Amino acid sequence: MHRLRRGRQLRVSQIPDSACQSCGACCVAYRVTLPRVELDSAPGGWVPAALTEPYTATTACMREHPDAPGRCIALEGIVGVAVRCAIYSQRPSACSEFAPLSALGHGDDACDAARRRCGLPPLGGI
Ligand code: SF4
Ligand code: SF4
Repeated sequence: MHRLRRGRQLRVSQIPDSACQSCGACCVAYRVTLPRVELDSAPGGWVPAALTEPYTATTACMREHPDAPGRCIALEGIVGVAVRCAIYSQRPSACSEFAPLSALGHGDDACDAARRRCGLPPLGGI
């Protein structure tokens, strides 16, 4: 199976499944805030409210891991090695909209900054 890119063919094996699965830096470098309407305690919400805490009158934020300040409580694994979001299908929109091409190996300024904070090189592109 091949995918076309810039007029040439790349084998799928040359394309990372997801750069994010071996990173997780943004889940440590940034505190994620979300509108309270996204909480599963609100009608139509989906983010587990138990993993959040109040932030402002209209927003909440993801709780931090008790043993790792700054690290989102939903992040599992080792940053820079292998990670997963325990609530991937229910993550805040701020997470699902962050650096949307990063999974394909294309970072942006915020992604690159998070990676640098964790001692990882910028993604660059494929
Ligand atoms: S978006 Fe960037 S910083 Fe976040 S996990 Fe993916 S590669 Fe890492
Ligand atoms: S909810 Fe998931 S994707 Fe969002 S910061 Fe936490 S671990 Fe990362």
